[in-house]
Parts: sequence; C-alpha cells; structure tokens
Amino acid sequence: MARRGSAEQDVLNMIMNAGENGVLQSEIWKVTSADSREGSRAILRLEKKKLIERRKELFDGRWTYRILVKRKIPKIDTIVTIPCAFCDLENRCSQSGLISPAKCDKLTIWLKNLAITIT
Ligand code: SF4
Repeated sequence: MARRGSAEQDVLNMIMNAGENGVLQSEIWKVTSADSREGSRAILRLEKKKLIERRKELFDGRWTYRILVKRKIPKIDTIVTIPCAFCDLENRCSQSGLISPAKCDKLTIWLKNLAITIT
C-alpha cells in the first residue's frame, strides 16, 4: 500500500496535469499508483482541503465524478518575470544568509502580484 501523502500527491498531480476539463474519477486509478479505495480516500481528503472539486457526471450510462483542480495552474509564462532571474544579489542570496528569499521585498511583491493574477 502506498503512503497516504503519496497517494494524495499522485492523484493531485494527475488532476492538475489533466488541465481545465479535469478528469473522470475512474480514469485516475488507471494512471496513478493508488487503487480505487485508497484513491477515493485521497480524493475526499483533497476535496476537504479545497484543492479539488467533484462534479457528478453521467458517463457511458453510469454516474461518476469529474474531478477538477480548484486552483489555476501556473504556467511557465507566469514565472519568467521572477526577480531572482535578473537579480544582482542572486549569488549572495541563500536561505540562511543576510540576503534571503524570506527577507526579500522584490520577491514578496512579485509573489503577491502572482497570487492576484492566478486566483
Ligand atoms: S530572493 Fe530577492 S535577493 Fe534573493 S535572488 Fe531573489 S530577488 Fe534577489
């Protein structure tokens, strides 16, 4: 049996990769390491965390759920403007240093603007 977090991550990755149309719940078991029982539990946990949404759908005469990711997926063009890419301080910046991402105003402002554009 896969670890709980692992099944959740696998399922979430699959749903995110499916794009805006989402994926039928029955398709998830075919491409993830989760079996239907552990996958169903992972989906319920992801829904409880408000990361995904389930919509009831009739498919091939049977009721199932279409699973959609609730957050928009960032694309590469949303991060090409990251200030770190063109920062003069980049070679002196580290997690534990005097100059760090946690204390950086440029990065904070950029992240806030990114959050506004993708929500
Ligand atoms: S976190 Fe700030 S200081 Fe560090 S590299 Fe990025 S922009 Fe530069």
